[in-house]
Amino acid sequence: MTDDRPPTKITLAESEIPRRWYNLLADLPQLPPPPLHPATHQLIGPDDLSALFPMALIEQEVTTERYVDIPDEVLDVYALWRPSPLYRAYRLERALGTPARIYYKHEGVSPAGSHKPNTAVPQAYYNAQAGIRRLTTETGAGQWGTALAFSCAQFGLDCEVWQVRASYDAKPYRKIMIEMFGAQIYPSPSPITESGRRILAEHPDSPGSLGIAISEAVEVAAQNADTNYALGSVLNHVLLHQTVIGEETLLQLAKVNETPDLIVGCTGGGSNFSGLAFPFLREKLAGRMNPTVRAVEPASCPSLTKGKYAYDFGDVAGMTPLMKMHTLGHTFIPDAIHAGGLRYHGMAPLLSHTKELGLIEAVAKTQRECFEAGMRFARAEGIVPAPESTHALAACVEEALRCKETGEPKVIVVALSGHGHLDLGSYGSYLAGDLVDHELSEEAVAAATASLPVI
Ligand SMILES: *Cc1c(COP(=O)(O)O)cnc(C)c1O
Repeated sequence: MTDDRPPTKITLAESEIPRRWYNLLADLPQLPPPPLHPATHQLIGPDDLSALFPMALIEQEVTTERYVDIPDEVLDVYALWRPSPLYRAYRLERALGTPARIYYKHEGVSPAGSHKPNTAVPQAYYNAQAGIRRLTTETGAGQWGTALAFSCAQFGLDCEVWQVRASYDAKPYRKIMIEMFGAQIYPSPSPITESGRRILAEHPDSPGSLGIAISEAVEVAAQNADTNYALGSVLNHVLLHQTVIGEETLLQLAKVNETPDLIVGCTGGGSNFSGLAFPFLREKLAGRMNPTVRAVEPASCPSLTKGKYAYDFGDVAGMTPLMKMHTLGHTFIPDAIHAGGLRYHGMAPLLSHTKELGLIEAVAKTQRECFEAGMRFARAEGIVPAPESTHALAACVEEALRCKETGEPKVIVVALSGHGHLDLGSYGSYLAGDLVDHELSEEAVAAATASLPVI
């Protein structure tokens, strides 16, 4: 190690955790189209949401204030793992032989192993403040369920999680973690709810889906005054909470005098990517830097690159408000790829809007290319990335190799949304050569989006 080389790990002191979240709505040249009531198609008001969410979060959903203060109680919990490290990927750069300078922001250091506690913690806090006793939610692979279970434990809330039956059976370790944090977890469909019973009566062996699990969690929250529902992505307040990632990254890059040329992240519902990217978009809109901002999604679930920009429901049953977003249609069921967290039919309305404004671009990647990048990254940097995060890494590797050809020393910043310690089974499949690539054809997209609601 030489003395004059910039550090591998760029850390911040606990006192440097940002004290406020950044709201991109304040700086956009144009506001995104508003959500509509699922039945009447009229504008929805705060009262339409108050059966599920506390008023503080409903306000954060609609505010156009540039900054929202992070409560001290939330900062105290954040301090368990924040500020998260920003790494200079010297070893990956060397392995690729690229002149690019690669940085990755590691959100896998959180209690849940991903970025999701950044919003789970404030959501639990505001619900506890509002006198709520219990939160319900759905989880697919289990990342969000783990984050919410941990956060509820911090603020003395009960937590009930409906996990998609197929994942519940296939991935027992997330269930154990969720139970360790004190939450109740049920396979979905479950006999506990009306929605679950209806499915089970017809399909006793149903593998479940996120849409069904959402219906179960929402039903219990809507029917009990002391119970609310929590969502781990897509909504404005979730993206807001995640901006702590980008604010820290700006401070860390400033410490090593770097300005990014490219920001990349994976997108399922859009929260970790927006969390990193939005503070950089503020800088870009203000003319202080001009990075390319690139979202990476799976080719089997390509909402941003192939979906329609249209009003659609967030769930299969059509109970949520209608949101204008890039969508493959609320009845679309993506192939069972290993990046479970990226299998959502829609994209966050606010992120979709920035794409329409031309502020971000999007690419789609097939899973073998992603796992290959994940393997390269693991061997070079010693971190097993979450299958979701490998999408960001694949786009990073692609750009770094392009730099090798052109000789450009671009500065690339990657969102490493989580670690993959509980996803080793999918790496096992990759190593055994069992992974297949799925790419959604134009015909399949047309069929999937045929049932979009007419507004
Ligand atoms: C949930 C999850 C994602 C996808 O969700 P976004 O809201 O798009 O960030 C990505 N990476 C990891 C590790 C996840 O757990």
